[in-house]
Amino acid sequence: SEAGARGVKPRILVLANQKGGVGKTTTAINLGTALAAIGEKVLIIDLDPQGNASTGLGIDRKSRQVSTYHVLAGEASLPESITETVVPGLWLAPSTLDLLGVELEIANERDRAHRLRAAIQGLAADQVKEPFTYVLIDCPPSLNLLTINALTAADAVLVPLQCEFFALEGLSQLLTTVEQVRSALNPDLTIHGVVLTMFDPRNNLSGQVVADVREFMGDKVYETMIPRNVRVSEAPSHGKPVLLYDIKCTGSQAYLRLASEVIQRERALRAA
Ligand code: ADP
Ligand code: MG
Repeated sequence: SEAGARGVKPRILVLANQKGGVGKTTTAINLGTALAAIGEKVLIIDLDPQGNASTGLGIDRKSRQVSTYHVLAGEASLPESITETVVPGLWLAPSTLDLLGVELEIANERDRAHRLRAAIQGLAADQVKEPFTYVLIDCPPSLNLLTINALTAADAVLVPLQCEFFALEGLSQLLTTVEQVRSALNPDLTIHGVVLTMFDPRNNLSGQVVADVREFMGDKVYETMIPRNVRVSEAPSHGKPVLLYDIKCTGSQAYLRLASEVIQRERALRAA
């Protein structure tokens, strides 16, 4: 199989949106879990100093001694930072608050925007036996050097967008940044898709936002929308993806559908 093939490059998807609270981390954890459940081998890289992806996957301080801070600072390799999670097939490169300082530490380095890209390239060489097939990068809520590192390392951007009034405004700013990264740092970067999160069918505004985003972004918008679901918001405090917490809830089912859509798009891209 492709997953078992030697030297296969993982697909590197970055979850980006400079707004906080739109579902980046929730989508990283649960899309990652759903992909692993389908048989992919997945690595989540936590690039947010808040470390919500690490906490949400139940990774305690003791397992964060080598973190993405050390990787970006050049003090450790990416494989050295990786820890297993409660989900079979899902691994994590955790983050800690140290990551807040790395931007200043590397600000004057020529390769400052390429640190993560180089680290992921080193990963491929290390993973000859059973390589990761997907790498998901969870970004902080800002278009800072951490997010630029993620966009420079990625094949494609997956944009979680909350169904609320100012959603489109933030989206155009992000698209401008993606365009800038493409022309200066990573010419192969594409938009994988926009995933609408926290959708509430009883809210008329939600419906209007969905219509506007679909008109603006066309078929870049995934058919799957993630509903607002209390089980999704409860799961992180148990240190579990919602798929392990309550597989039957609407949130879990939506993330499983999103994973199969992501895989379908990947197949279509490869066939093209
Ligand atoms: P970001 O990483 O973009 O800042 P999060 O993924 O942390 O956003 O989500 C923000 C908050 O919204 C969190 O408390 C999370 O649990 C909650 N949340 C995310 N998605 C859903 C959902 N589908 N239903 C209910 N709550 C959600
Ligand atoms: Mg987050």
